[in-house]
Amino acid sequence: MDLKQYITIVEDWPKPGIRFKDITTLMDNGEAYKYATDQIVEYAKKQNIDLVVGPEARGFIIGCPVAYSLGVGFAPVRKEGKLPRETVKVDYGLEYGKDVLTIHKDAIKPGQRVLITDDLLATGGTIEATIKLVEELGGIVAGIAFLIELTYLDGRSKLEKYDVLTLMDF
Ligand code: IMP
Repeated sequence: MDLKQYITIVEDWPKPGIRFKDITTLMDNGEAYKYATDQIVEYAKKQNIDLVVGPEARGFIIGCPVAYSLGVGFAPVRKEGKLPRETVKVDYGLEYGKDVLTIHKDAIKPGQRVLITDDLLATGGTIEATIKLVEELGGIVAGIAFLIELTYLDGRSKLEKYDVLTLMDF
């Protein structure tokens, strides 16, 4: 299936000069969403995943159906102040500004093999921050999966040590 036909390019959003890749038109299509999810599930099986971790909010959209399908847990990574119990946190720079990401301190057991999911790899800042949180808790980043990679931003160079799956390149 050619998944790219389900991605909508939105010019000049959220600011002038950005060509935003809107994945909601893919999610809206049951066959395309299932096909994309199944590709990541097959990858996750090969990587022997124990747990899926994804940053809010689109990392949940990709990661939760994968976790459900594998019968493993999902741990959310969220902006500061959103998780109710004790967290670890990391500062990061992203394409459109700066922020802090957090995860519950007990979300990962040391040695668990973690799949990190997000919709899109741009500069890699979000995923680099998510990796730091997983590793700080003793998790092993056994795979990283995205729907989309913006190859011209070279986020991959931050992920050289890791196994990465992307379903579409722009
Ligand atoms: P990075 O941290 O620069 O790699 O940016 C990736 C994050 O920004 C992901 O969590 C994406 O959800 C979001 N993002 C950046 N550009 C786009 C886009 O064109 N479409 C959808 N999300 C984007």
